[in-house]
Amino acid sequence: MEHFDLLVIGGGINGAGIARDAAGRGLSVALVEAGDLGGATSSASTKLIHGGLRYLEFYQFGLVRKALAERETLLDIAPHITWPQPFVLPHSPEQRPEWMLRAGTWLYDHLARRDVVPASARIDLRQDRAGRMLRPEFRTGFRYWDGWVDDARLVIANAQDVRARGGSVLPRTRVVRATFDDGRWMVTLDTGATLAANYVVNAAGPWAETVARSVLGRNDAPALRLVQGSHIVTRRVHLGRDAFMLQQPDGRIVFVIPYEHDFSLIGTTEHSVDTPGTVAVTDAETGYLLAAVNRYLVRPLTSADIVHRYAGMRPLIVEDGKGDRETSRDYALVPHAGVPALTVVGGKITTYRVLAEAVLKVVAPKTKRWTADAPLPGGAVPRAKGENGQDAFKRWLATLTQTHADYDPKLIRRLARTLGTAAEPLLADGLGENLGGVFEAELAHFRGFEWATTADDVLWRRTKLGLHLDAAAKARVAAWFGEAVRDDGIAPATHRFAAPGVG
Ligand SMILES: Cc1cc2nc3c(=O)[nH]c(=O)nc-3n(C[C@H](O)[C@H](O)[C@H](O)COP(=O)(O)OP(=O)(O)OC[C@H]3O[C@@H](n4cnc5c(N)ncnc54)[C@H](O)[C@@H]3O)c2cc1C
Repeated sequence: MEHFDLLVIGGGINGAGIARDAAGRGLSVALVEAGDLGGATSSASTKLIHGGLRYLEFYQFGLVRKALAERETLLDIAPHITWPQPFVLPHSPEQRPEWMLRAGTWLYDHLARRDVVPASARIDLRQDRAGRMLRPEFRTGFRYWDGWVDDARLVIANAQDVRARGGSVLPRTRVVRATFDDGRWMVTLDTGATLAANYVVNAAGPWAETVARSVLGRNDAPALRLVQGSHIVTRRVHLGRDAFMLQQPDGRIVFVIPYEHDFSLIGTTEHSVDTPGTVAVTDAETGYLLAAVNRYLVRPLTSADIVHRYAGMRPLIVEDGKGDRETSRDYALVPHAGVPALTVVGGKITTYRVLAEAVLKVVAPKTKRWTADAPLPGGAVPRAKGENGQDAFKRWLATLTQTHADYDPKLIRRLARTLGTAAEPLLADGLGENLGGVFEAELAHFRGFEWATTADDVLWRRTKLGLHLDAAAKARVAAWFGEAVRDDGIAPATHRFAAPGVG
C-alpha cells in the first residue's frame, strides 16, 4: 500500500494548487479527483483574476488587496494562459453616482502593487471606441484593468507540476472513506484501492461539507451556502478588446467579456441551491442575462445569438444575516479537531496560490514558500533580466511564429496560448492529421500529458474548441478517444458534475 505525507481530496484549482505547493516542498502527495481535473467549479468561472471591484462596496478591503496582489503574481507565473484585461464600466445615472465609481477605481488602483496592470481612467464614451457598442445615453464611464485566466488550464498546469515533482495525480477516482487509526489515515477509493496518508486536506469545493461529514466522518465542518452562477456565450458583441462591467437595477453587475476571439462571455447570475450536484443554466437565468446586457447594447442580443451556456456553484461560508451578494468570497481553513486533517472552504481562482500557502503553513510549518516566482508548466518562457512574464511571453511567441513560418500564425498563437512552451515540440515534430480544426498531435498531447480521456475533456476544458468545431469534427475527436457517437455526430456528454458526491 502506498503511503503519502499528504492526500488531497478534490482536483479543482484549490486541490491542485495545494498538491503542487506541497510536492515542491518535498512532501509525497496524492491528488485525488472524482471527475475530470477542474471539471467542476474550476472550469465554470468567469475566468477573471481580479480583486473584485464590486467587493469594495461591502468594505472587503482585505480580500480585495490580497486578490489584487495575486493578480500580478499569476500574470507573471502563467503568462501563456493569462493576460491583462481592460474593462469599461459605463456610468448609468440611475445606478451608483459617478463620484463613487471614481473613488472605487482609484482605490482599486492603489490598494496593491501594480507592475503589469495599467491604472484606471475616466473615459468619454461618445469619443472612445468602447462607446460605439453602447446605447447613446451612456456618455461617460471608467476604464479599469483586471486579469484574464483560462481557469481549466490553470488547474491542469498545477496538476502537471504535481506529477513533475513526483506526486501522484488520480483523476476519475473518488475518495469514498477515510479513517484515522493508529496514527495514519486509511483512505479508500472507489477503485477499491486503499492508500495511507499522514495528513488529509479536503478541497472538495461545493462538496466540502459533504465530504467532511460522509468521507472523513467529521461533524465540525462549517455550513456552506451554495450559490449557482451561470454564463451564456454569444456571437461577439465587442468591437475591441475591452470587456464591460454593467450595473443592473437590482444592484448586481454583469460582465460581458471578449471570448475565444469570435464570441462574448456574459455572466453571471446568483441564486442559492440546496445541495451540490448537477447544475444547469435555467431559462430564467438566460432571460436575466440577456435583459441585463440589452439595457446597454445598441444592437440587442436574442436567444438565437447564444451558442453555449454553462453553470457552476460557488461554495460560500454561511454568514448570518447576509445575502448571496454580500457573503464574502474569501476562503477559510478549518482544522478538524483531534486529527491531522483540514477542510478548505470558499475561495476564488484568483487566490488559490495564497490559499495553498496558508494550507502548507498548517500541514508542513517547517517548509518554505516557493510558488510566487516559479512559473507553471508551459509558462517558463525565456526571460531577459528584469523582464516580466507577460513581456517575455510576447517576445517568445513572436520568435516561435518566425521559426515556424510555414504554419498559420493564428494556429501557432492558439497552440501557444493553450500549451505555452509545450507547443514547441509539437510544432517541431509535426502536428499530424487535421481532424477538422484540431490536430492529432494535440489530442495525443492531451491524452498523454494532461489526463484527457474523452472528447468533452478536450473540447470544453483542455481547450474551448467545442465553440469552434463543427459536429463532424467533434465526432472525429470522440472517435479518436474511442467514444460511442450519437446519431447527430456528438459524443454523449460525460460527467460535468456527475462524478462527485459520496457514498
Ligand atoms: C459562476 C462562477 C463564477 C466565478 N468567477 C470567478 C472569477 O472570475 N474569478 C475567480 O477568482 N473566482 C471565480 N469563481 C470562484 C472559483 O471558481 C472557485 O472559488 C473555485 O473554482 C473553487 O475551486 P475548488 O477547487 O475549491 O472547487 P472545485 O473546482 O469545485 O473542485 C472541487 C473538486 O472536488 C471533487 N470532489 C468532490 N467530492 C470528491 C470525492 N469524494 N473524491 C474526490 N474528489 C471529489 C469534485 O469533483 C471537484 O472537481 C467563480 C465561481 C462561480 C461559481
